[in-house]
Amino acid sequence: MTTETFEFQVEARQLLQLMIHSVYSNKDVFLRELVSNASDALDKLRLEKLRDDSLDADVSDLHIRIDVDKEARTLTVRDNGIGMSYDEVGQLIGTIANSGTATFLQELKEAKDAAGAEGLIGQFGVGFYSGFMAADEVTLVSRRAGESQGTRWTSRGEATYTLEKVDDAPQGTSVTLHLKPADPENQLHDYTSPWQIKEIVKRYSDFITWPIRMVPEAGDGESAPEPETLNSMKALWARSRDEVSDDEYHELYKHISHDWREPLETIRLQAEGTFEYQALLFVPAHAPHDLFTRDFRRGIQLYVKRVFIMDDCEELLPPYLRFVKGVVDAADLSLNVSREILQQDRHIKMMQRRLTKKVLSTVKEFMTKDADRYATFWREFGTVLKEGLVTDSENRDAILAVSSFATTHADDEPTTLARYVERMKDGQDDIYYLTGESRQSIENSPHMEAFRDKGIEVLLLTDAVDEVWVDAVGEYEGKRLRSVAKGEIDLDATGDEKADEEREKQAEDYAGLLGWMREQLDEDIKEVRLSARLTVSPACVVSDAHDLTPALENMYRAMGQEVPRAQRILELNPGHLLVKGLNQAYKEREDRSGLVESAELLHTLAVLAEGGQPKDPARFVKLVADRLERTL
Ligand code: ADP
Repeated sequence: MTTETFEFQVEARQLLQLMIHSVYSNKDVFLRELVSNASDALDKLRLEKLRDDSLDADVSDLHIRIDVDKEARTLTVRDNGIGMSYDEVGQLIGTIANSGTATFLQELKEAKDAAGAEGLIGQFGVGFYSGFMAADEVTLVSRRAGESQGTRWTSRGEATYTLEKVDDAPQGTSVTLHLKPADPENQLHDYTSPWQIKEIVKRYSDFITWPIRMVPEAGDGESAPEPETLNSMKALWARSRDEVSDDEYHELYKHISHDWREPLETIRLQAEGTFEYQALLFVPAHAPHDLFTRDFRRGIQLYVKRVFIMDDCEELLPPYLRFVKGVVDAADLSLNVSREILQQDRHIKMMQRRLTKKVLSTVKEFMTKDADRYATFWREFGTVLKEGLVTDSENRDAILAVSSFATTHADDEPTTLARYVERMKDGQDDIYYLTGESRQSIENSPHMEAFRDKGIEVLLLTDAVDEVWVDAVGEYEGKRLRSVAKGEIDLDATGDEKADEEREKQAEDYAGLLGWMREQLDEDIKEVRLSARLTVSPACVVSDAHDLTPALENMYRAMGQEVPRAQRILELNPGHLLVKGLNQAYKEREDRSGLVESAELLHTLAVLAEGGQPKDPARFVKLVADRLERTL
């Protein structure tokens, strides 16, 4: 048989180097990872055989087996599961498909200390490659169920691996670690010791639903004993709460999520009666890198009476809870249940409703009982959860109740809408907010000026989804949600007659300039008016109450939708010297051609101030430079 040598993909090579020079302090976890892969492979074979009875595979005794060889210093984890074809071995083991890898490696490079690096590895989870923490060479032999030829993969974790076809491979996969030399200092991590292996399996993999067998150590002169099963195989969700330790739950979480860190919360749920099910859900402590990518995998596994049915079961939780991991075991579904059936099933819909409410009430509990935990949750998952404000009208109130937002209020803590409402000023009817790219840019936006002056609180919304939910939700407890950059804002409307008279006069005084400017800026602006929201800046642009904001327009365009560019409104600050001067000049001059540029500049300044782009940056720079030159 010929042996072919291949190079690892760059990212894979970098990851391997990390494993070999292992910065991860708890090396034992490699065994959990190999057992986890083996267990998945058994699940997959069982399902495939169920779907296709003609598959030439033996499913009579599916199990995992661990063998240690003290002399040769090898440890082998073997399964008789689905196995991999020659091509699959090359693809699955030689490359890393995870879309977050590049970001992950970049962050790793930037991580200054070992603890930082360890945290990152934990969050990424490196599966099969973690074997290289304990081994200096790894051999994998695999034969895909139904195929006759097997494949041997070998690597020392350096730049290359070899592939070779083999004739006598058993069905499934075996991974053999050629362990690093024994460390006399560290007897506690001797992976050739059967009792240590047993301990590790009990600690990390007890709940695996397939038997994990190993031949125990023979006493002197005894003949080799029979293999024993190391794990209890008891599904954690089927056991009572006080029988299961938090650590055990956490290990299940790690198995399901491929996250190496502890979850933020474990949620248990039991339903009895006509449609019986048990659920064990986990809220992770950290958002994964690929949460917002299209191919993000949901983390709910569906079981039927302890038998694994499918990963990534989308029907059980709505998309805005896609970060939740866990297991749902439903007693009354058929083992052959397909996604199509799940989508139609009335019971599944009821389950989804109940699980959703349970997750939301858990978040509510964080909020009322554990501020730190809530803060972590909201930092990691707030952006995703807010999608639910748009898509899940049934739970909108519950989601709003656990949502918090950055605000201009002095204590600088994110606020709920409820607290905002409590603080509203006498006579204030609306909840004010401003959306934009960053907190800094919107905090300093001209739209905020009058609000800052009058000490009126404004919510600072900087996630893309904020643009959408504020429209979808519209109001909270009868108070309208209003953008400070939209429509007419008049915080001075007091009903004071004298003030009204004053304003009327002002309006007359400016009427000519406003009309003239409107004509000059015809392409971009549909109205020019005097502003009640400016105190410092000369001008700002605002949208009509029902128009899309520029950010939303951009979002639709990024999604490939055609939207016309909305014409906006230019507001001038009649208290500003520049605006006064312009009005004066407008009234005095016959020939106003010299003022056209001023009008244009004023408009561009307003666009810049809200974080927008000048339509023609080069022209803008030239106009400003010309004017600066004249002032020298
Ligand atoms: P992950 O398990 O996170 O996907 P791994 O690097 O551990 O990443 O494994 C990569 C892929 O290789 C798995 O998704 C699976 O398709 C395949 N694989 C790994 N171990 C086995 C095994 N024992 N049997 C069959 N396929 C396996």
